[in-house]
Amino acid sequence: MSTRPTILPEVRDFLAREHGHFIGGRAVAAPANPRIAVVDPADGNAIASIAAGGEAEVDAAVAAARAAFRGAWLEVSPAGRAAVLHRLADLLQAHREPLAQLETLQSGKLIALSRAFEIDQACAFLRHYASWATRIHGETIAPSLPSFRGERYSAFTRREPVGVVAGIVPWNFATLIAIWKLGSALATGCTIVLKPSEFTPLTLLRIAELALEAGVPAGALNVVTGAGAVGEALVRHPDVAKISFTGSVPTGTAVGRLAIESGLKRTTLELGGKNSVGFLPDVPVQRIVAGVMEAGFVHQGQVCAAGERFFVPRARLDDVLTHLSERLGGLRIGDPLDEATEFGPLANQAHRDKVASLLARAPQDGSTVVHGGGVLPGPGCFLEPALVRASRPDAALLGEETFGPVATFLPYDDEEELLALMNGTPFGLAASVWTNDLDRAMRLIPRIEAGTVWVNMHTLLDPAVPFGGIKRSGIGREFGGAFIDAYTELKSVMIRHQT
Ligand code: NAD
Repeated sequence: MSTRPTILPEVRDFLAREHGHFIGGRAVAAPANPRIAVVDPADGNAIASIAAGGEAEVDAAVAAARAAFRGAWLEVSPAGRAAVLHRLADLLQAHREPLAQLETLQSGKLIALSRAFEIDQACAFLRHYASWATRIHGETIAPSLPSFRGERYSAFTRREPVGVVAGIVPWNFATLIAIWKLGSALATGCTIVLKPSEFTPLTLLRIAELALEAGVPAGALNVVTGAGAVGEALVRHPDVAKISFTGSVPTGTAVGRLAIESGLKRTTLELGGKNSVGFLPDVPVQRIVAGVMEAGFVHQGQVCAAGERFFVPRARLDDVLTHLSERLGGLRIGDPLDEATEFGPLANQAHRDKVASLLARAPQDGSTVVHGGGVLPGPGCFLEPALVRASRPDAALLGEETFGPVATFLPYDDEEELLALMNGTPFGLAASVWTNDLDRAMRLIPRIEAGTVWVNMHTLLDPAVPFGGIKRSGIGREFGGAFIDAYTELKSVMIRHQT
């Protein structure tokens, strides 16, 4: 019996449309734009096409966002903004299944993940941002200036929205990451132009329509589709006040440079990582195996915070690799829409080929692929999950982000060595330590160089807990209350008055 859900009519109808951009509250067909095919990575078939926008569309979208920032969205009270975001969450929930199907079709994400992580988590984040809308405030300050003629001084700060935000989104969590950006912008009173990845633009185009239905005024949320040139035009645009970019380190670094050069734009950069996972000697083999599965292989390893560098006590490593090989060898690889599938395709052909070539080069520095790594035949972008045993800390697969289902292992002998290994990377997005020894965990946490440190868990993000990278993994924090700094300017007001 098939466990593949039927593709819903709502999804079929949406895929069959001639997609344009979403500017000023309506779909803007762009006949002059070249088209980009959106390909289902499970079977290599084109499922839709989008318009490759350019400067004209970026100009139009930024103009619409600027008009809404100064007009319709400005007139909505903080409580009104919260209500709109809650209504959007209600609509996402109401359209959960079609959105999840669209997400799986465009990205190859397992359908259960699309439902739980892309849609349900998107709702949780929207409600989190909604809860902040009425709690954004400055403070009153008593200045210490001397009074010469009996005058007094008072001061206060205001939190003012930065203005038009450009949100640039990668392909790995195309729905959720767009929601992080639009939720942060709209809650703080900003307006936004979003640029989805050219590989995974479809859910966002649908969400823009739902946002309008939820009461987001025309122009407050715009979507321009296309490749990197659209992102670059947004970053350069003089009327964009802030860039919120999530993506790779090289692109993010270029975006940061351009944002500074083109008007010192406020910039949040959520970039890649090469995240370390350290198992302490008290952790039994089966728990290590479960920990590696959680840290390294969710969404075929295409998670920015996924573990890629695994450090295991020397005495346990052989056992761990044997058990993990069995576990990975038993995974059901296949159609991500089928609920029985445990491991889907990689998100696109170029990415699958990049991961395969990194694995092919592993022996050059003495690393051994101990399990998997084979490219599966057929039209889809399938690659077997891989385990690699490195022979030295500077092995390429311990240094370069694969962003794929590749877990690379190195044994260690003592705690100081573990710490040096965990920190021996220029990246610092996330890390995890696994132990029941509370004293050791508490000793290690402050010394681990990462924006997030998990203990006995990995990968899960919560709206209330700030998230972002240190070192080359980024600048700025999202979520919690930390996002408010990034989307508002602090204006100081000083008043001279008589008593
Ligand atoms: P990418 O950097 O190639 O692309 C990201 C986005 O930037 C896409 O929309 C792309 O079209 C756009 N872009 C490309 N060139 C641009 C330019 N010159 N100017 C402006 N925009 C441009 O990244 P990707 O391959 O889509 O995503 C994978 C990467 O994202 C991985 O490195 C992963 O670690 C990272 N990531 C980080 C986080 C985080 O929160 N830190 C989350 C998810 C993914």
